[in-house]
Amino acid sequence: VCPTAALTEVNHIPKVWEALRNPKKYVVVQTAPAIRVALGELFGMEPGTIVTGKLAAGLKKLGFDKVFDTDFGADVTILEEASELLERIDNNKTLPMLTSCCPAWVSYIEHQFPDLVDIPSSCKSPHIMVGTIIKSYFAEKNNIDPKDITVVSIMPCVAKKAEAARTELSIDDNNNVDIVITTRELAMMFNEAGIDFDKLSDEEFDHPLGETTGASVIFGTTGGVIEAAVRTVHEWKTGEGLEKIEYEQLRGIEGLREAEVKVDGTKLNIGIAHGLGNARKLLEDIRNGKSKYHAIEIMACPGGCIGGGGQPYHYGNDEVVKARQKAIYEEEKNKEVRKSHLNKEVLKMYEEYFEKPYSEKAHKLLHTKYTPKERI
Ligand code: SF4
Repeated sequence: VCPTAALTEVNHIPKVWEALRNPKKYVVVQTAPAIRVALGELFGMEPGTIVTGKLAAGLKKLGFDKVFDTDFGADVTILEEASELLERIDNNKTLPMLTSCCPAWVSYIEHQFPDLVDIPSSCKSPHIMVGTIIKSYFAEKNNIDPKDITVVSIMPCVAKKAEAARTELSIDDNNNVDIVITTRELAMMFNEAGIDFDKLSDEEFDHPLGETTGASVIFGTTGGVIEAAVRTVHEWKTGEGLEKIEYEQLRGIEGLREAEVKVDGTKLNIGIAHGLGNARKLLEDIRNGKSKYHAIEIMACPGGCIGGGGQPYHYGNDEVVKARQKAIYEEEKNKEVRKSHLNKEVLKMYEEYFEKPYSEKAHKLLHTKYTPKERI
């Protein structure tokens, strides 16, 4: 991953055009939380301009059969991850639990800390969950053969391209996600298609995988995944609605942060790291038995996905990353529902298909495992 342009992605745009031109393919696109606060920069807008509605409109103009939101998968991730954390705490299992949505970080632990591969959450990342849900629940509901579906992910991330190819994540030898393109590649596609992005009128995502919450929006920034998880853990554990939904102590831009959060009389120690140098410090402590945390969020890119290697280049300018982070929190505040466990379409899906979070079926389709790899 490289936000300074020293490395660049393999171009997968031709593959997307090929899928869109193939009449036998049902082509579904999904877009990550961090794209909507950065894409506008590639069309001359100020960093931090929110372009969610234009993004949905532009993707519809490109001709995708469905335009879904990876944020839906982020809400599902929280239901699964919060269940896993509670299960580990209640049964004295391995702690801390580490978040697993960042594939660069997952690859890092497999290669650099192979003795610790049992500590990340077993949850697949949100876009892989969405790919899985499209090719199982959505395909069944709409009577479409999963083999005829092509799932395209728009990601702020170069590492997601390699993640989508991981065989551990496929189901019946069918990849959950077929093609990944970055924010920069999407802007090139809009240009190639002659779409005047800044003149687009706002449109909505398609349903059912288009309903999302504020909790899923904040996945785009450092601290957001763990804040979303704590909201759900708190309400599940206490059975009471949170009075103040913002956990300010989990927010910020410092590379290493920690917070103590009270849940039903129990203190949860939370660690947050972004940038792999910072992650290493927390991992060394775990290896040496010195970690005090119950849960840790790790993101490889400085700032989290808002500063991802597939985003518009910011050349190390922290102000750009801060503007994108501010926009993420603005977008979250405007959402009617701000907790993942209250996403109605996610709950309906569980009722109709997975039964409940962390069920046997959810485990089979939405979770994975990690393999120790040779140090590189
Ligand atoms: Fe990708 Fe960076 Fe986000 Fe990790 S933090 S998922 S590497 S964009």
